[in-house]
Amino acid sequence: MLNHGPLSKPFLSLQSYLQGFIHLIYPHICLQCASSELLNSQVICDECESQLPYTHFSKMVINPIEKIFWGRAKIEQANAILYFTKDSIVQKIIFELKYKQNKKAGYLLGRLIAQEILSTHSENPVLFLIPIPISKKKLRKRGFNQCLIICKGIIDYGVNAVIFNGLHKIKNTVTQTHKDRLERSLQNSPVFILKNRIQLQDKPIMIVDDVITTGSTLEAAFHCLKAANPSSISISTAAYTFT
Ligand SMILES: [Zn+2]
Repeated sequence: MLNHGPLSKPFLSLQSYLQGFIHLIYPHICLQCASSELLNSQVICDECESQLPYTHFSKMVINPIEKIFWGRAKIEQANAILYFTKDSIVQKIIFELKYKQNKKAGYLLGRLIAQEILSTHSENPVLFLIPIPISKKKLRKRGFNQCLIICKGIIDYGVNAVIFNGLHKIKNTVTQTHKDRLERSLQNSPVFILKNRIQLQDKPIMIVDDVITTGSTLEAAFHCLKAANPSSISISTAAYTFT
C-alpha cells in the first residue's frame, strides 16, 4: 500500500525533479494533433478545441439529455457539452483526466461547461455544484475525484458557484434476496448518502459528471439530493455517449 499521508520534503524535491525530467522526454504537445503551439495550462491546442464535437444541446428546446430523465427525475435543465465516441479526442481527454491524473484535462472540461452556464444562467444566484463522488477505493487509486476537478474548472472560469462536498458514494449492501423489483432494477446504480443537506435547502444546485450514458448514476444522485429540498436541480456533464 502506498502511504497517502503528507509527503516528506526530500520526496517532494524528488517528485519535482522527476516531473522536470518527464517533461524533457515528453514535451508539452496537443493531445490530438501533437502541435506544440499551446499554453502550459492546455492539453489541446486552440485549433483542436474549436473542432471538438460540440453537441450544442443548450440551443435545443428539448435536448436528448433532458429526454433521458423524462418520467425518472424532474430536472430543471440538463446538458452535455461534447459527444463522446470511441477513439475520439473526447475519449483521449477523459482518459487523460481519469487514468493519467492530468488535472488540466478536467479544467478544460470545466471551462467548456462554464461557457455554457454563463450563456444560459447569467442572472442566477450562487449555484451549488455537486461533483458526482467516486468510491474510496477509486479515490485512493486516482488521487482525486475527476468531477471535483471539473467543478473547480467551472468556478475558475468565473461562474458564481460553490462546490458542495456532502454527497458520498457508499457500497450497495442490500442483499439480493431483500431487493424488491425496483431495487433490483437499480442494482447496478451506485448508492449515495447526503451529509450537510441543510446547506442546499432552497438553493439552485447542479450535479456535475464527466460522462453520461444511461443516466442511472445521475438519477440515483438526483433522488438522494432531492431530500435536501433545493429550489431546482440541474445536470451538466462534459460528454454524452449514446448506445
Ligand atoms: Zn491540436
